[in-house]
Amino acid sequence: MHEQKSARQRLAGYAVLALVAGLMALGWRAAADTTAQADAPSPSQEVTTDDAAAITVADAADPAAVPVAPVIEDIAFVPAAVPQTFIGRRPEHQLQTYTVERGDTPNGIADKFGIQATTLLGGNPLLSQESSLLQTGVTLIILPIDGVLHDVQPGDTLESIAAQYSVPVETIIAYEANNLEFPFRLFPETQIMVPGAVRDVFVWTPPTLASVRSSREGSGVTPVIVGTGTYIYPVGSRSFSQYFWYGHPGIDIALPEGTAVVASDTGTVTFAGWNIYGFGNLIVVNHGNGYETFYAHLSGISVVPGQIVYQGNVIGSTGNTGNSSGPHIHFEIRANGVQDNPCFYVGGC
Ligand SMILES: [Zn+2]
Repeated sequence: MHEQKSARQRLAGYAVLALVAGLMALGWRAAADTTAQADAPSPSQEVTTDDAAAITVADAADPAAVPVAPVIEDIAFVPAAVPQTFIGRRPEHQLQTYTVERGDTPNGIADKFGIQATTLLGGNPLLSQESSLLQTGVTLIILPIDGVLHDVQPGDTLESIAAQYSVPVETIIAYEANNLEFPFRLFPETQIMVPGAVRDVFVWTPPTLASVRSSREGSGVTPVIVGTGTYIYPVGSRSFSQYFWYGHPGIDIALPEGTAVVASDTGTVTFAGWNIYGFGNLIVVNHGNGYETFYAHLSGISVVPGQIVYQGNVIGSTGNTGNSSGPHIHFEIRANGVQDNPCFYVGGC
């Protein structure tokens, strides 16, 4: 009984030893294999997950045992080299970038680089679609000259681009970094600088009165005057309690109740009264150029719908009415009914 157990134990002992030795060998090989792979420009790392199989193949002493696939080369479809084929050069733009800092405005950034504010949009098309992107920390592409950096689309020709931006073809060709030479091949997924162009989605120039679309709060009153197109703060304070972001389409400035509120620009008052959607006492001024300004949570209103107000005129006083947590003014600028970042217009925030 004792003998038997001992023999079995010995057998088990040998088995364990053999297993350990095997594992060690495997481990060593795997490590060596991994090291080799780390050095070589391995196309995939999946091999390491199948180490055992890899080792088995490597272990085969007879190289003939490893099947070697024949290399088939078929050049039947390779086009013949034609030295006359025009290949063209891709554009090589040297573009500066700028990271937006607190307090930056489009005009301020443009001034730093000696370009126009519209050129910021020329290099950063997303800005015009989502002006809240002009936030601290966002990196902008700064074009070296005024114009638009056009993303070449399939089907684009030099002529179509020139027509799109109403600039002469020669101007685009003359821009050196575009690397354009006859026959002016364009490459998709590259960018062509269009000097002097302005991205057409970006409208600084006020449209005519006829094109004004009023928002719901301002409906019913026809604007009778066109604003200056510039905007000032409705209050003197700069104690921002909330900035513009996708969840808050305006700016909040905290200040004591009863502080005078002025019209941000010249326009027609289209709404002055209680708003049931949380704005409390609200004034809406339509500037007759597609733009409206909203002044919310007021304690006092000193204008009536239809009244003309000029930039800087007192129109009411700040309060804490409606859906408001503490005395502040909620100020919005809407461009054709869409809330835009007021900081973009008034600067300084
Ligand atoms: Zn607000």
